[in-house]
Amino acid sequence: MFKKASNNVNFVELEENILDFWKKENIFAKTLEATKNNQKFVFYEGPPTANGAPGVHHVLSRVFKDIFPRYKTMKGYFVTRKAGWDTHGLPVEIEVEKKLGINSKKEIENIGVEKFNRLCRESVMKYEDEWKRMTERIAFWIDLDNAYYTFKNEYIETVWWILKTIWDKGLLYNGNKIVPYCPRCGTALSSHEVAQGYKDVEDHTVIVKFPLQDEKGTYLLVWTTTPWTLISNAACAVNKNSDYMAVEFENEKLILNENLAESVFKDKQYKILNKFKGEELLGRKYEPVYDYCGGNKNAFKVIHGDFVSTQEGTGIVHIAPAFGEDDMIVGRENDLPVIQMVDEEGNFKENVEKFGKMPIALANTLIIDDLKERKLLFKIQKMIHSYPFCWRCDSRLIYYAKKSWYIKTSSIKENIISSNNEVNWYPEHIKNGRYGKWLENNVDWAITRERYWGTPLPIWEDKNGHKVCIGSIEELRKLGKNVPADLDLHKHYVDNIK
Ligand SMILES: [Zn+2]
Repeated sequence: MFKKASNNVNFVELEENILDFWKKENIFAKTLEATKNNQKFVFYEGPPTANGAPGVHHVLSRVFKDIFPRYKTMKGYFVTRKAGWDTHGLPVEIEVEKKLGINSKKEIENIGVEKFNRLCRESVMKYEDEWKRMTERIAFWIDLDNAYYTFKNEYIETVWWILKTIWDKGLLYNGNKIVPYCPRCGTALSSHEVAQGYKDVEDHTVIVKFPLQDEKGTYLLVWTTTPWTLISNAACAVNKNSDYMAVEFENEKLILNENLAESVFKDKQYKILNKFKGEELLGRKYEPVYDYCGGNKNAFKVIHGDFVSTQEGTGIVHIAPAFGEDDMIVGRENDLPVIQMVDEEGNFKENVEKFGKMPIALANTLIIDDLKERKLLFKIQKMIHSYPFCWRCDSRLIYYAKKSWYIKTSSIKENIISSNNEVNWYPEHIKNGRYGKWLENNVDWAITRERYWGTPLPIWEDKNGHKVCIGSIEELRKLGKNVPADLDLHKHYVDNIK
């Protein structure tokens, strides 16, 4: 029964012989046939992208994805293993842009979305053969012959059906929210994408003097880490429960948080005039340093913000609802205008005096100079901090108010958390750790990407703002005008359907 094994084994040859045997005898198919009437164990293949060559790190994930189905099959379960290919999205577009030597949405539109999408489609399976060879060589049993592709109509139609189901429940909405945004790619990024691109950078923070309207020669000392957002200033925030004071400094009266006076003035002499709670500043109006609020009466006043730090800056924070999550929240609470003066390519809009059509990065230093010239700059400091960059193109991200479609995941939070409690996690600490914490802090999911080569949203709107969400090709043919026979569910087709 036993045969003495050689101590001089050629492992590669051994593996190849077994792979040959599996192939010749159709072993994978036989395991499916033998278990087809048994209880199912469901495995979802998170699809890799085949427009890049497979790397060593893919071997690891594919081995994991093989171990569990293989084990369950050996235990007698019926485990179908449908392969899949992720063929959409920014990585594909960037490859095509590189090939064409272009790098903006405008250039894509000049070339034509139809042509651009055709090139994307041609490029997505560039490394399919390498992927297949690697998959077979590492003995990952998966049904490559019946793979799903995310660019195919039947896949997109499924996504439409999912969105329609969510729509019918009233959980799909269009909102004005702050998103991490890459001006180069012209797209919002997910928090997962943002987390991949933090770098330590040196930036200028400034303390600006905001003149109070009803008290000549008195200024609020307002702190900001992003001078360019001053163009969109709508208010400034204090912490109403914290201690503030007015001081005399170089013949001017300046207001700031008591705790921060020492770090602001360092060894310079100043005289304390009086002390008071932040509450007393609420509602005070100031002269805007830049005024693009369009006459909104709620703008340019002092408001309360829980988030206002009394550990750094001046304890008075500049608020631009168009460029920060906290700003947007207090903006909504205080009816502040959302002053969006930056276009989608990261340039100031044309009507911004002195800085129109200028990239914000360039304008930043010029705004500082402008404030200096107008004697409104109190102090400029360098600060090293961690800042997010686009993981794809290495551009600086900005936090940006954008119209975006959201899935209201926050409304089913309790449900998701209790489901998570039923899940076996390995390692176990992930369950209530990284993953559980993420669920606890769940915010609505921004699904809009505003790209060309991806799943188009199946929402149509008429002149009166009435919206309809389409859940299938059949429904689209029934309700839509200009639905072509050779319908391809991509932007260059779908945009023409009325
Ligand atoms: Zn980018």
